[in-house]
Amino acid sequence: MSKYHVNEKGYYGQFGGAYIPEMLHPNVEELRINYLKIINTEAFKRDFDHLLKTYVGRPTPLYFASRLSEKYATKIYLKREDLCHTGAHKVNNTIGQILLAKRLGKSKIIAETGAGQHGVATATVCALMGMECIVYMGEIDMARQKPNVERMKILGAQVIPATSGSKTLKDATNEAMRHWINNPNDTHYIIGSVVGPHPYPDMVARFQSVISAEMQNQLQEVEGRNTPDHVIACVGGGSNAAGAFYHFLNDEEVNLIAAEAAGKGLNSGKSAATTSLGKTGVLHGSKTILMQTEDGQVVEPYSISAGLDYPGIGPIHAHLFDAGRAEFYSITDEEAMTAGVELSKMEGIIPAIESAHALAVFGNRRFEKDEIVVVNLSGRGDKDLETYIKWGKY
Ligand SMILES: *Cc1c(COP(=O)(O)O)cnc(C)c1O
Repeated sequence: MSKYHVNEKGYYGQFGGAYIPEMLHPNVEELRINYLKIINTEAFKRDFDHLLKTYVGRPTPLYFASRLSEKYATKIYLKREDLCHTGAHKVNNTIGQILLAKRLGKSKIIAETGAGQHGVATATVCALMGMECIVYMGEIDMARQKPNVERMKILGAQVIPATSGSKTLKDATNEAMRHWINNPNDTHYIIGSVVGPHPYPDMVARFQSVISAEMQNQLQEVEGRNTPDHVIACVGGGSNAAGAFYHFLNDEEVNLIAAEAAGKGLNSGKSAATTSLGKTGVLHGSKTILMQTEDGQVVEPYSISAGLDYPGIGPIHAHLFDAGRAEFYSITDEEAMTAGVELSKMEGIIPAIESAHALAVFGNRRFEKDEIVVVNLSGRGDKDLETYIKWGKY
């Protein structure tokens, strides 16, 4: 297709692939053989678009942030994914995957979650479709993210604690994989970002690509051209960024900017700035860039925002970084919180702290006065109220 999209072998440049145990092969292979056939049918597109419109609330607005634009002397638009049902972009993907699972004849859904946001988005669509839902979550994460655990339970999902290892996301992922190996026929595994073995990164990017498709139409309407000069998005695993970049990947006139979490600082030992600190390795079934020790052990990541607290990035972003197609910035907790409070006070929008990392790019880089800059506002800050309160500087 192009050098920035996945190739027929499941790779983005040297990254991607499917590095999975033999036992998982039939499940992933079933998905690989069928996903494009199914999601490209008219019937699938109709169902997907209908739910995005009537259930999620799409298209989300493209909002011209006039006060912020004035402050940074450029033209800033916000793509309002924070207005999606459940408060973030994640539901675009879970809707797509559950429709796919139904067409594959699956009756049960499993997922893993760290902070609980993907677990909630998955439990939501399972309730919508009347499908059984099991979410694996590290025991420590369950204690840290109690409100999301309760949300999932209200929505009818079963939340199973992962009690091995560090009792966090990595261990929950292992449990979910094990479950899938043991229940290959009736179960679909919904992965929440552009990570995991091929075809997940490509499948998730396609579901999220509705974000940049809408941007094109909306920019055409307000600016008379369907491309921005820059698109900025935060990167945890990279699904909101992949969706915001997708339709601009081949247009090198559009500059792509990714914001990673530097946590307490690049040299603090408490960060999640994968491209700055990581090197090539295999994580969650794909070859990518990840933070690791000299002998290849995955380093425990840290960020003030739970959604960016991930030791790797999706293979598409490893490739965009490697090829120099996207600019990467590492944003500290401090910079992100400051940018989040600034948006609240200047535009009346309290952003998710993940999204605030994208906004903090304005403090790190200049833009020309007449340039069009679109920031993908991946989520709303309601879930982060405790963190804002603890931060206190507002
Ligand atoms: C989960 C999450 C992210 C990070 O996930 P990506 O796959 O990198 O998009 C970013 N923003 C919000 C609001 C989230 O909930």
